[in-house]
This record gives sequence, C-alpha cells and structure tokens, in this order.
Amino acid sequence: MVTEAFKLNVLDVEIDVIRKDIKHLHLSVYPPNGRVRIASPMDVNEDTIRLFAINKLKWIRNNQKKQINQIRQTPREYIAGESHWVLGKRYLLEIEYITSGRHEVLIKNKKFLLLKIRKGTSTKNRANVFDEFYRTQLHALLPELIEKWTKKIKVSCEEYAILKMNTKWGSCVIEKNKIILNLELAKKSIPEIEYVILHELTHLLERNHNHSFINILDNYMPDWKNRRRNLNQRL
Ligand SMILES: [Zn+2]
Repeated sequence: MVTEAFKLNVLDVEIDVIRKDIKHLHLSVYPPNGRVRIASPMDVNEDTIRLFAINKLKWIRNNQKKQINQIRQTPREYIAGESHWVLGKRYLLEIEYITSGRHEVLIKNKKFLLLKIRKGTSTKNRANVFDEFYRTQLHALLPELIEKWTKKIKVSCEEYAILKMNTKWGSCVIEKNKIILNLELAKKSIPEIEYVILHELTHLLERNHNHSFINILDNYMPDWKNRRRNLNQRL
C-alpha cells in the first residue's frame, strides 16, 4: 500500500499525518502520552488537514489531558516517608523544618532525600522547591549527554531548554537547532533521558517520524523501544 507520512504542527500540538488509501480523514489520540495522528486520503492537501485539525483542537486537547493524566505520576504531598524519584532512583523523603536559610532539597544518602523548609510551607511551595532541585539535577547532566549524542549522529545543537510540559517529554525548534526537554525527565533514568535527547536531536535531521528517522534511532540506540516503554511507566 502506498503511504506517505509527515508531521504537522497546529499551535502547540504536534500531529503525525499519514496519507493512505482511505476515504475519510480520521483523527486519533493515543495513550500513553497523547500522541496525535491523522490518517488522510491520498488526495487531501495539507491545508485541508490543518483546518480539520484546528476544528478538532478542543477535542484533541481534552483527550490528551485524559490520557496524559493516566501516565503522570501520582500526586505527591511532600511529606515524610513519601517516595520520590531522582534520575531513575527511588528515595524516601525526610523533612527538616528550618527557621532560617533557604528552602532546598538535598540527596542525603542512597535512600533518603531531605527537604528543608519552614513549618507551614504549602504543598504548592514544596513542589516548587522540588522543581528547582530537579532543574539543577538536569542542568548538571544535560550538556554532557547532548554533546555525546550530537557527536554520534553528527548534528549541531545550539541550545537546550528545560520546560514543564504536560503532553510530551521533549520537542525541538528545528530552525534554531534547539531542543526542549521536559523537567519531569529529572525523575527518569539516564538511559530514558538519553532516548528523549536522541529523539529530539534526530528531529534536527529529520522533521518527521519517517523511515530514515527510525533508522537513525535503530542504528544508534538499538534498544530505544525499551527505553521509551520505561519512560512512559508511571512513577
Ligand atoms: Zn518526535
């Protein structure tokens, strides 16, 4: 069967389009991470597909929300004894109430994380302290990993950013040779983080998830599917 695949960006939504021998446009949102796919008849042009997607944007967002909630980690209260993940390792949380100094999270030893906060700090503010900690963890790691993979696949990456994103682990700005990584990755193991880095760097060479895109992954990271599966497991 003749098929043709390409990627379409409608606002912040990335859509995999596949043209094949069918009669009608068909839209799907897939678990676990809310990937959007449109199957289209061969003769429907890109503008029509784009318009179709724009009209369905609300439906897409609602479905993504439902599905992504399923993979997001169980909500945390940031109280003593809770488990938290850092770079794929599980730690138990200890709380130390402080009366001066800054709020922070420290890795105490192999088993425990220490959250230093003032008494009465809200859950939301505790979460913010964690976000800062996670950001620092990623910044300590990413430059080296990005350099490693840019060298391997011979692509240049001018910059990276860490953002909180609800629908994806990473994205890229091809025109700027820039990749964007989800802050949540700080909870994941290094092999899983490397999969996302390689995926996004590969987009700087291949916009679409086409054969040559998959070939690059297969060549440089033969176990990428395992890594992707682990990545999407709930913590
Ligand atoms: Zn992609």
